[in-house]
Amino acid sequence: HHAKEKGLSQSFFNDAMQNRLQSRLELERDLDQALKLQQFELYLQPKYWLADGTAAGFEALIRWHHPLRGLVMPQAFIPQLENTDRIIELGYWVIEEALSMLSRARARDGKECRLAVNLACRQFLDASLPTFVEAALKRHSINPAMLELEVTESSLVDHFQHALTSLHSLKRLGVDIAIDDFGTGYSSLSYLHKLPFDVVKVDKSFTQELGKDGATEHIVKSLITLVHELGGKVVAEGIETDQQLQWLQLMGCDMGQGLLLGPPMSEEELIRRQDGSLLEWPRIRHKKS
Ligand code: C2E
Ligand code: MG
Ligand code: MG
Ligand code: MG
Repeated sequence: HHAKEKGLSQSFFNDAMQNRLQSRLELERDLDQALKLQQFELYLQPKYWLADGTAAGFEALIRWHHPLRGLVMPQAFIPQLENTDRIIELGYWVIEEALSMLSRARARDGKECRLAVNLACRQFLDASLPTFVEAALKRHSINPAMLELEVTESSLVDHFQHALTSLHSLKRLGVDIAIDDFGTGYSSLSYLHKLPFDVVKVDKSFTQELGKDGATEHIVKSLITLVHELGGKVVAEGIETDQQLQWLQLMGCDMGQGLLLGPPMSEEELIRRQDGSLLEWPRIRHKKS
């Protein structure tokens, strides 16, 4: 029966939409709770200078301790929140928590440590971000040079003029800017010289092809040369094998992070694993090539 068929497919469609909407509303409601109940935690992944294996700081990566779902990874909630203003609120929490970690680390170790924080596109383009960052740095007495803000290549390319304005106001504070997930967008290398950046992060999908795929190696090699000519530094993410590490060291890549060097860990675990200090994480071996 025609009408019945239509009714069926329509209700199927509505159910699917309803589920999607419900899970988004649930997510947003849960998020409000999660912030209140302190269910978020920033994990820290160590970053190293590849030339001598010394510590270069950490990247903060958010985790959600959900009462029913357990440990929830960012891919399961950040992309959905990116379409709402909730991401800005969460982003403020991340910056606040990152800076209090830095001030705790300074109190423990007696010296400063560098930390990189990821910014969602909407958060990065929000006009109140620089004021917030500036106030938060003052509140925690953190040297702006210790904070690095990671912005994805696609946020920069998709909103180029607006992004330039945001980058300049953030740079004025004295923080460093890293272009994250480089190579995953559809941009060309040629626009890099227009951006005030300090660091380019080679996406892990590229790192994973090193030693296997000549074309990728060629791109990464050219990128390292170009970024150096522009006065920036290169970080390779997702280093999992000795072969990848050696290739990057040989090509003069400045810094690296990945499971081979150290996974993201809670602050508590990091401190436990290295006798109370965030800075003395075992050095990677220096490989002579
Ligand atoms: P990202 O900034 O590119 O972070 C790198 C991701 O690679 C992290 O995933 C990290 O755990 C993972 N990773 C590290 N080493 C390796 C490795 O050797 N191999 C592989 N395969 N992966 C490795 P994670 O923690 O799941 O975060 C995923 C993404 O979520 C991040 O990508 C970032 O875009 C976003 N994210 C994380 N924390 C935040 C946050 O506080 N705010 C915002 N806006 N986004 C965040
Ligand atoms: Mg990142
Ligand atoms: Mg990245
Ligand atoms: Mg990435």
